[in-house]
Amino acid sequence: MTEKKLCLLDRDGVLNVDKAYLCKTEDVEWVPGSREAIAWLNRQGFQVVVVTNQSGVARGFFTEDVVRELHDWMAAEVKKSGGEIASFYYCPHLPGAAVRQYDVDCDCRKPKPGMILQALNDFDVKPCNAFLAGDSPRDVEAAEAAGVKGFLYTGGNLLDFIQKIVWNLKLAED
Ligand SMILES: [Mg+2]
Ligand SMILES: [Zn+2]
Repeated sequence: MTEKKLCLLDRDGVLNVDKAYLCKTEDVEWVPGSREAIAWLNRQGFQVVVVTNQSGVARGFFTEDVVRELHDWMAAEVKKSGGEIASFYYCPHLPGAAVRQYDVDCDCRKPKPGMILQALNDFDVKPCNAFLAGDSPRDVEAAEAAGVKGFLYTGGNLLDFIQKIVWNLKLAED
Protein backbone atom coordinates (compact mmCIF):
# COMPACT_ATOMS: atom_id res chain seq x y z
CA MET A 1 0.00 0.00 0.00
CA THR A 2 1.40 3.38 -0.94
CA GLU A 3 1.46 6.08 1.69
CA LYS A 4 -0.80 9.08 1.45
CA LYS A 5 0.76 12.15 -0.07
CA LEU A 6 -0.21 15.77 0.21
CA CYS A 7 0.77 18.89 -1.71
CA LEU A 8 0.02 22.21 -0.06
CA LEU A 9 -0.16 25.20 -2.36
CA ASP A 10 -0.25 28.85 -1.49
CA ARG A 11 -2.98 30.62 -3.46
CA ASP A 12 -2.06 34.18 -4.40
CA GLY A 13 1.07 34.23 -6.53
CA VAL A 14 1.04 30.45 -7.04
CA LEU A 15 -2.38 29.44 -8.38
CA ASN A 16 -3.46 32.90 -9.44
CA VAL A 17 -1.46 36.00 -10.22
CA ASP A 18 -1.19 37.97 -6.98
CA LYS A 19 -3.44 41.01 -7.12
CA ALA A 20 -3.89 42.78 -3.82
CA TYR A 21 -6.93 41.44 -1.95
CA LEU A 22 -8.33 39.46 -4.85
CA CYS A 23 -11.94 38.53 -4.21
CA LYS A 24 -13.75 38.51 -7.59
CA THR A 25 -13.74 35.59 -9.99
CA GLU A 26 -13.36 37.93 -12.97
CA ASP A 27 -10.04 39.14 -11.52
CA VAL A 28 -8.57 35.64 -11.35
CA GLU A 29 -5.68 35.26 -13.75
CA TRP A 30 -4.30 31.74 -13.52
CA VAL A 31 -0.57 31.27 -13.20
CA PRO A 32 0.63 29.31 -16.27
CA GLY A 33 0.56 25.58 -15.56
CA SER A 34 -1.18 25.95 -12.21
CA ARG A 35 -4.36 24.04 -13.01
CA GLU A 36 -2.35 21.48 -14.96
CA ALA A 37 0.00 21.06 -11.98
CA ILE A 38 -2.91 20.09 -9.75
CA ALA A 39 -4.20 17.53 -12.25
CA TRP A 40 -0.69 16.09 -12.61
CA LEU A 41 -0.22 15.91 -8.84
CA ASN A 42 -3.50 14.01 -8.54
CA ARG A 43 -2.29 11.52 -11.12
CA GLN A 44 0.86 11.07 -9.02
CA GLY A 45 -1.30 10.15 -6.05
CA PHE A 46 -1.21 13.49 -4.26
CA GLN A 47 -4.13 15.18 -2.67
CA VAL A 48 -3.83 18.91 -3.18
CA VAL A 49 -4.93 21.55 -0.71
CA VAL A 50 -4.63 25.31 -0.68
CA VAL A 51 -3.35 27.23 2.35
CA THR A 52 -3.87 30.96 2.09
CA ASN A 53 -3.70 34.04 4.31
CA GLN A 54 -6.75 36.21 3.61
CA SER A 55 -6.32 39.22 5.86
CA GLY A 56 -8.68 41.12 3.55
CA VAL A 57 -11.42 39.61 5.74
CA ALA A 58 -9.90 41.12 8.89
CA ARG A 59 -9.39 44.40 7.10
CA GLY A 60 -13.07 44.51 6.16
CA PHE A 61 -12.45 44.35 2.40
CA PHE A 62 -14.58 41.21 1.92
CA THR A 63 -16.36 38.57 3.95
CA GLU A 64 -15.58 34.91 4.57
CA ASP A 65 -18.57 34.04 2.37
CA VAL A 66 -16.90 35.87 -0.51
CA VAL A 67 -13.69 33.93 0.10
CA ARG A 68 -15.58 30.62 0.14
CA GLU A 69 -17.49 31.45 -3.03
CA LEU A 70 -14.26 32.35 -4.81
CA HIS A 71 -12.71 29.07 -3.66
CA ASP A 72 -15.71 27.06 -4.86
CA TRP A 73 -15.35 28.71 -8.25
CA MET A 74 -11.60 28.07 -8.37
CA ALA A 75 -12.15 24.41 -7.48
CA ALA A 76 -14.69 24.11 -10.31
CA GLU A 77 -12.28 25.70 -12.80
CA VAL A 78 -9.50 23.33 -11.73
CA LYS A 79 -11.89 20.43 -12.16
CA LYS A 80 -12.39 21.42 -15.81
CA SER A 81 -8.63 20.84 -16.23
CA GLY A 82 -8.93 17.40 -14.66
CA GLY A 83 -7.67 18.32 -11.20
CA GLU A 84 -9.16 18.34 -7.75
CA ILE A 85 -8.49 20.72 -4.89
CA ALA A 86 -9.40 18.58 -1.90
CA SER A 87 -9.72 21.46 0.53
CA PHE A 88 -9.04 25.15 1.01
CA TYR A 89 -7.65 26.43 4.29
CA TYR A 90 -7.65 30.16 4.77
CA CYS A 91 -6.74 32.46 7.62
CA PRO A 92 -9.06 35.47 7.93
CA HIS A 93 -7.23 36.92 10.94
CA LEU A 94 -4.87 39.83 11.51
CA PRO A 95 -3.63 41.24 14.81
CA GLY A 96 -4.86 44.81 15.16
CA ALA A 97 -7.43 44.32 12.39
CA ALA A 98 -10.25 46.74 11.65
CA VAL A 99 -12.91 44.03 12.04
CA ARG A 100 -12.82 43.20 15.73
CA GLN A 101 -13.83 39.53 15.52
CA TYR A 102 -10.79 38.85 13.34
CA ASP A 103 -8.36 40.83 15.49
CA VAL A 104 -6.75 37.60 16.66
CA ASP A 105 -3.14 36.61 17.10
CA CYS A 106 -4.01 33.19 15.68
CA ASP A 107 -2.00 30.05 14.98
CA CYS A 108 -3.05 29.84 11.34
CA ARG A 109 -1.67 32.98 9.73
CA LYS A 110 1.50 31.99 7.89
CA PRO A 111 4.39 31.95 8.84
CA LYS A 112 2.63 30.08 11.65
CA PRO A 113 2.01 26.45 10.75
CA GLY A 114 -1.60 26.04 11.92
CA MET A 115 -3.22 25.50 8.53
CA ILE A 116 -0.53 23.05 7.47
CA LEU A 117 -0.77 21.05 10.68
CA GLN A 118 -4.55 20.99 10.31
CA ALA A 119 -4.29 19.69 6.74
CA LEU A 120 -1.78 16.98 7.69
CA ASN A 121 -4.14 15.90 10.41
CA ASP A 122 -7.30 16.07 8.28
CA PHE A 123 -5.71 14.04 5.48
CA ASP A 124 -3.74 11.76 7.79
CA VAL A 125 -0.47 12.41 5.99
CA LYS A 126 3.02 12.25 7.50
CA PRO A 127 5.06 15.45 7.11
CA CYS A 128 7.71 13.54 5.12
CA ASN A 129 5.06 12.69 2.51
CA ALA A 130 4.00 16.30 2.07
CA PHE A 131 5.47 19.43 0.56
CA LEU A 132 4.45 23.02 0.14
CA ALA A 133 4.99 25.52 -2.66
CA GLY A 134 4.58 29.22 -1.99
CA ASP A 135 5.85 32.49 -3.38
CA SER A 136 6.70 34.10 -0.05
CA PRO A 137 9.40 33.20 2.47
CA ARG A 138 6.66 33.08 5.10
CA ASP A 139 5.08 30.15 3.22
CA VAL A 140 8.33 28.23 3.40
CA GLU A 141 8.77 29.20 7.04
CA ALA A 142 5.27 27.93 7.87
CA ALA A 143 5.98 24.64 6.11
CA GLU A 144 9.24 24.13 7.95
CA ALA A 145 7.56 24.91 11.27
CA ALA A 146 5.19 22.03 10.49
CA GLY A 147 8.08 19.71 9.57
CA VAL A 148 7.17 19.87 5.88
CA LYS A 149 9.54 20.73 3.04
CA GLY A 150 8.75 24.14 1.61
CA PHE A 151 9.71 25.41 -1.83
CA LEU A 152 9.82 29.00 -2.97
CA TYR A 153 8.18 29.54 -6.34
CA THR A 154 9.60 32.60 -8.05
CA GLY A 155 7.85 32.46 -11.43
CA GLY A 156 7.61 30.40 -14.59
CA ASN A 157 5.38 27.49 -15.42
CA LEU A 158 4.02 25.99 -12.21
CA LEU A 159 3.72 22.48 -13.63
CA ASP A 160 7.45 22.47 -14.49
CA PHE A 161 8.29 23.73 -11.00
CA ILE A 162 6.11 21.14 -9.27
CA GLN A 163 7.37 18.25 -11.41
CA LYS A 164 10.98 19.02 -10.51
CA ILE A 165 10.13 19.03 -6.82
CA VAL A 166 8.24 15.74 -6.96
CA TRP A 167 10.98 14.02 -8.97
CA ASN A 168 13.69 15.34 -6.62
CA LEU A 169 11.75 14.16 -3.59
CA LYS A 170 11.29 10.80 -5.34
CA LEU A 171 7.58 10.96 -4.62
CA ALA A 172 6.57 10.47 -8.25
CA GLU A 173 4.79 7.31 -9.35
CA ASP A 174 5.78 7.24 -13.00
MG1 LIG B 1 1.42 34.09 -2.06
ZN1 LIG C 1 -5.67 32.79 11.44
